[in-house]
Amino acid sequence: MVAQAPHGPKPILHTTNYRTPPCCSFLQNGYTADMAIGRVISAQALSEAEETFNVSLRPKSLDECIGQQNVREKLSIAIAAAKKRGEPLEHMLFYGPPGLGKTTLTNVVAHERGARIRSSSGPALVKAGDVMGLLTNINVGDVLFIDEIHRLSTPVEEFIYPAMEDVRVDFTVDSGLHAKTINFPLKRFTLIGATTRAGLLSAPLRSRFGMLYHLDFYTTGELTEILSRSAQLLKLVCEEGTPERIAARSRGTPRVANRLLKRVRDYAQVKGSGTLSIEIVDNALKMEQIDALGLDELDRSFLRALATVYNGGPAGIEALAATLGEERDTLEDVVEPYLLQIGFVRRTKRGREITRQACEHLGLEQQKR
Ligand code: ADP
Repeated sequence: MVAQAPHGPKPILHTTNYRTPPCCSFLQNGYTADMAIGRVISAQALSEAEETFNVSLRPKSLDECIGQQNVREKLSIAIAAAKKRGEPLEHMLFYGPPGLGKTTLTNVVAHERGARIRSSSGPALVKAGDVMGLLTNINVGDVLFIDEIHRLSTPVEEFIYPAMEDVRVDFTVDSGLHAKTINFPLKRFTLIGATTRAGLLSAPLRSRFGMLYHLDFYTTGELTEILSRSAQLLKLVCEEGTPERIAARSRGTPRVANRLLKRVRDYAQVKGSGTLSIEIVDNALKMEQIDALGLDELDRSFLRALATVYNGGPAGIEALAATLGEERDTLEDVVEPYLLQIGFVRRTKRGREITRQACEHLGLEQQKR
């Protein structure tokens, strides 16, 4: 018997290494945390041009990737071993803040293993039928990439378990008295999940990944290398020290670094001769309201609210989100990770607290409690 074609909205399906469009935003304004990390904090989604810009700058092989040394080493061994055995790779999970290279590494892994890639995202897979459509089109060794995997619904998640473990799915057709469960064998594939919130993944789903990789913020040196490579690809003329200057203000994030490079390129072409100089970089970033540490207006508002409205904290994330008129997810995914990393915010059981360094940076007096 043949399973009926699943009904309902079709899952997003890409067979190229194009990034999944953020269809079901969890932010009211219609953009996702991934976009917000590009600091497009407005109703405007990333323009297509910007997406093309990013895609063209994406490294294609492990050797082309910069930073994440540890993860790259482990991946290169896993890929070599899988090739030697002639087997598909084990299921993998990449987790870490947006813009650090989860999608890039997924494409690199598929490319290195010589596998086709199909992409979707957690919010796009609403029903078991959506996943069924994806899985039945998969060939041996293909990579199925699910971005924002922590946002899969429970029924979809449970539907995926046997696919990951036993390479089969139990698909129910019809309902009530006529309901029938069809056991559908699949081809062996590799599921690669990406998430900014590994903590929100259920234990059963997490335990079904054979490899879990945490991506960390990049050092200024690594970002300088990434920017030099991007500048070369974009055929930009950079004076000495300019990639470092941008790297230092990129919040440890390649996506932010590439985005700032683009802003500086625009500025250089309009206000200068097109060459990137220190002065051009400083002026362009000043116009973007990016300060010496790479903090933007939203970061500063977050810190100021904590310092002034909540007397330095502790303050709950919901309260801060309400004060700023922002989504809690934006603050947790986009703003906080870097502020925690540079020691400007402390997370305690009672809430968020501002640190002395943050107050000094903003020129505020720390409130005595
Ligand atoms: P994520 O999926 O974690 O949100 P992406 O994989 O989309 O992040 O990466 C954002 C951009 O940063 C990519 O378009 C790519 O140009 C750049 N990038 C990410 N990782 C690297 C890397 N290791 N080396 C060079 N560029 C990178």
